[in-house]
Amino acid sequence: MKKSLLLLLFSILIAFSFISVAKAKDCHLSETEMTITVGSTAKLKVKGTKEKITWSSSDKKIISVKNGKITAKASGTAVISAKVGKSVMSCHVTVKKTGILVHMLDIGQGDAILIQVSNKNILIDTGEEKYYEQLMTQLDHFGVKSVDSLILTHPDSDHIGSADKVIQNYDVAEVYMPKKTCTSREFSEVIAAVSSAGITPINPNEGDFLSLACDLTAQVLSVDEGDSNNSASIVMRLDYYNNSFLFTGDAPAKVENEVMGKYDVDVDVLKVAHHGSDYSSPILYLKTVSPEFALISVGAGNSYGHPCDTTINRLEKFAKSILRTDLNGTITIKGDGDTLTSETEPLITWEEKEVETKSRKYTEKKEATQIIGNKKSKVFHTDQCDSLPLEKNRIYFDSEDEAIAQGYRPHNSCVN
Ligand SMILES: [Zn+2]
Ligand SMILES: [Zn+2]
Repeated sequence: MKKSLLLLLFSILIAFSFISVAKAKDCHLSETEMTITVGSTAKLKVKGTKEKITWSSSDKKIISVKNGKITAKASGTAVISAKVGKSVMSCHVTVKKTGILVHMLDIGQGDAILIQVSNKNILIDTGEEKYYEQLMTQLDHFGVKSVDSLILTHPDSDHIGSADKVIQNYDVAEVYMPKKTCTSREFSEVIAAVSSAGITPINPNEGDFLSLACDLTAQVLSVDEGDSNNSASIVMRLDYYNNSFLFTGDAPAKVENEVMGKYDVDVDVLKVAHHGSDYSSPILYLKTVSPEFALISVGAGNSYGHPCDTTINRLEKFAKSILRTDLNGTITIKGDGDTLTSETEPLITWEEKEVETKSRKYTEKKEATQIIGNKKSKVFHTDQCDSLPLEKNRIYFDSEDEAIAQGYRPHNSCVN
């Protein structure tokens, strides 16, 4: 009896000498209690022994432990045990939630969304190449030094334009993109950057769960090789405890309807597809989603007429709050796993308005009109044309170049 009491005392003494070399700042060890946030790691050591230590965790879903390195995987409490010879020491670990931050960055016309959760940085799209400086300013503002996951929804330049520079300048660990390829210069540059960084892009499949961060469930609801770049968009649902988000790239109504038919899209935060275009966000879909927050990433005074008034009218019926980067600047949604709040901050003073105007002039000439292809005849038209194909035979392109790249030829009387 006395012997085992001594052993216990000895064990406690050793337990007191656990030292923490935590990577996470907020992780500390006080005696045999320790607090750590989800996604962070800490090192534990038993001093003064040369004996082999066997580590174990009482709940592997909450913490995993390997060679004294503990990783916090989900919030809750668990006990880590270290077995040295015959004595067992334990340390109580409380794992706290980090909360989730979704920043819709103001990068003019395009998409770039930064998600910060469980000590990970996830970037969905990067915006146009010409707005890279604006993207960088904002990534710096939010303390991004490295990108754990870069998700490129589809190959259009307003989504992947700065991706090559992000890959070159930030430590990007992994890249997700659809199988859909494109002949554009921007797309080739992304492929070159990915390969010189030694990254093999991951092409997710519909239904896949992506392991992006602890405490976060991410499921791909649509990704396509088909028709157009936009319909190839990776559509993804994220769940952080009771906070839910739907990211849609530039998915057209057809894709949104398909997704709605197969999956639960009743979420709290909706990234409105295709910058509020009228070819997305059909009424029944918006009714099903009925988000607390609808976020639109759109450039002020863009030449596409985004967001479309009719889309805004539909959104006003079903979304509690509509936030737009052209009016609100960078938008942040904060979630604690239960409630959500929004913050808006104009991080960019658009002295670069000039850039915007210049590009507007350029796009007005080249892409002010919608390009509509006829799937049967493989001829494409502008939306002003008198001989437009039937709706069921239509395919929408973002530009003439995109139509040509996909083997369509121009209609002589409307395309010049
Ligand atoms: Zn777009
Ligand atoms: Zn697009």
